[in-house]
Formats: sequence, C-alpha cells, structure tokens
Amino acid sequence: MALTLPDQIVRQEILALSAYHISPAQDMIKLDAMENPYQLPPFLNKEISRITADVCINRYPDPHATALKETLRTTLSIPAEMDIMLGNGSDEIIQIIMLAAAKPGAKLLTVEPGFAMFRMIATFTNLEYIGIPLRSDFSLDTDTMLTALRHHQPAITFLAYPNNPSGNLFDTGALEKIIEASPGLVVIDEAYHPFAGKSFIEKLADYPNLLVMRTLSKLGLAGLRLGLLSGRPEWLSQLEKLRLPYNINVITQLVATRVMQHYDVLQQQAEAIKQTRTRLQEFLATLKGVEAYPSDANFILFRLDDASRIFRQLQQRGILVKNLDNSHSLLKNCLRVTVGTPEESDYFCNTLQDLVGK
Ligand SMILES: *Cc1c(COP(=O)(O)O)cnc(C)c1O
Repeated sequence: MALTLPDQIVRQEILALSAYHISPAQDMIKLDAMENPYQLPPFLNKEISRITADVCINRYPDPHATALKETLRTTLSIPAEMDIMLGNGSDEIIQIIMLAAAKPGAKLLTVEPGFAMFRMIATFTNLEYIGIPLRSDFSLDTDTMLTALRHHQPAITFLAYPNNPSGNLFDTGALEKIIEASPGLVVIDEAYHPFAGKSFIEKLADYPNLLVMRTLSKLGLAGLRLGLLSGRPEWLSQLEKLRLPYNINVITQLVATRVMQHYDVLQQQAEAIKQTRTRLQEFLATLKGVEAYPSDANFILFRLDDASRIFRQLQQRGILVKNLDNSHSLLKNCLRVTVGTPEESDYFCNTLQDLVGK
C-alpha cells in the first residue's frame, strides 16, 4: 500500500505557509504582544478563586453565554438593537466571518501594514487577499481605497481602528466613505478601543454593511481568550451558524462575567497605560535618530537605524519587543514596543538610550 504523505493531502496554500512566530519570552520583560502589564487586584483574584472553586467542569458551558453577554452589553454600551456574538478570542471571530463569505473567487480587502491574522485567515479560508498600502505616515489613502473597492468588489473589508502595527486611528470621514462605497461587508476591528476612546459602535445603526469587533485581550484578559462581534441580527444570525457550540468555556464565562462587573478596575489600568504611553512618547521624541509614530493604542511603533541589531541587543538585555524590520516596505527599520508598567518602560528607555547612544 502506498504511504500517503501530508503534501499529497494538505492544500498547497497551507504547505506554503510558515506558522505564526511567537518569540520565547521566559524571564524576559515582555513588550511584544500588547498585553496589559498589570495583574488584577487581590480582592478580585480572591473573588475569582471563590467562584471557580466549585465550578462544574464536568458539564458543558452555557452555549449562549447569556450572563456574560448581558454583562458585556452593559459595560461596553452595545446598542439594544444590535446582537452580540462571542469568539474564543477575536481571532476566532475573524475566522468565522471569513468562512461565511468564502465563496469561490471571493476577495478580502484590507490595508498594509496591518494585522497579520487578516492575511493568514484569508489564506486558511481560501479568500483572495488584497492588501492596499497605507501612506508613508500610515494614514488611509482614501482615493486608492475607493478605486480598489470598485475594482475588486471585495466580499469583506477588514480595518483595525486603531491600526496594528502603526497605532493610529484612521480619519473617521475617510472610513465612512469606505463603508459607504463598499459593495460588501466592512468589519472595524476595535481591539485597541480601551486606549483610543473612539468607536464605530454607535454608528452601527447608520450602516447596514457594518460590523464592529472588540476583544478583552488588550484590556487585561488575554489569557481568557474572549472576543466579541456586534452588529445587526440579520448578519449575526448567519454567522452564529458557523460558531462551534460551546466555543466559550465555563471558566472564561464565569471569570470574564465577574471581572467585567468590575470594569472600572480595567479602565483604571488602561488609564495608567495611557499615561505611561505619553511619557514613553515624550522620551522617544528626545532620542536622536529615533522616529516614533503617534499612537492611540497600548504600543508605539518607532524607526531607527539598524533596527534588527537593536532588537537583538534589547533581547540580550532581557527586553522583548516586536521586530517589524523587513516585514513590509513601509516598516523598514521599525520596531514596536508595548507600553508596560512605568518601571518596565523606564528600563526599556534607559536600555534603548544606551544602545543608540553608542
Ligand atoms: C491583538 C489583536 C487581535 C486579537 O485579539 P484576540 O482577541 O486576542 O484574538 C485582533 N485584532 C487586532 C488588530 C489585534 O491587534
């Protein structure tokens, strides 16, 4: 019998992919993944211990996560006439949306540089990927976007607001033009909303082709894996069919519900991160040969000579940032640093100053 090999069975596009790279981070100051650097206060950790102590892990979770959705609706001010769909991280929601639209020949349009998972999941789901370059200051090139929408007629357009890895909010008017001109669905990914303060959630009612995505990951619950999508029932009832039953586990439902009842704690942490971001921006502006870009998120993109060498030297001194050098033509010599605690940030600043001063 002939032995069947993976490359005879696995799709060509998958064979050609390299797995998403996550750097080892043990004992490092981890400033690479936009995590909230703060833990929960002891009173809240105690509450979590108490409520999870006798959880029934022998039973499947509530398939509709009713209590969690109600809490999220209130704390995140989701309009009453809009539905909510939950995902095991917003990455899972991206996958559900793309799966639903992946007819043969269907296209996904987004901007570059942008969130890497948009391209990866487009490949997983067999959507044709169209990446439209941003301007060199990472603003939207509105005319080119409008032309591309007419030309490609994408089934879905994904835009992160603020954008990752550049950190900026796109111009609201430009985004509205894009939503109006889109022949298909437009998904605004608001993963960094806690640090930006601007949202398209209130505009859902104005546009029948708009969905808005959020996540609790950057807010401080990355380990729980919970993302949410908000939009009209017509859309969400279709997407719900693709959501695997019980995708939100019991522990996530229980803990996220409880933590979101103390949303003020997470908001205060986001406030502290924003203050550290301001100080970090001010410091980077003083460094010769470093160009830092404005950020409405919990990270800062900056450009400097010999970025890949600086990246390795930071790593040797125990600091992990994201190296984006060579990842896109607009990101030549760029690194991205997540805003950590004031102490982590000071250590990063001193180390960087040391390295570029030499
Ligand atoms: C981090 C990030 C996400 C992923 O969030 P999860 O909910 O943790 O899967 C989604 N979109 C953007 C733009 C991100 O940067």
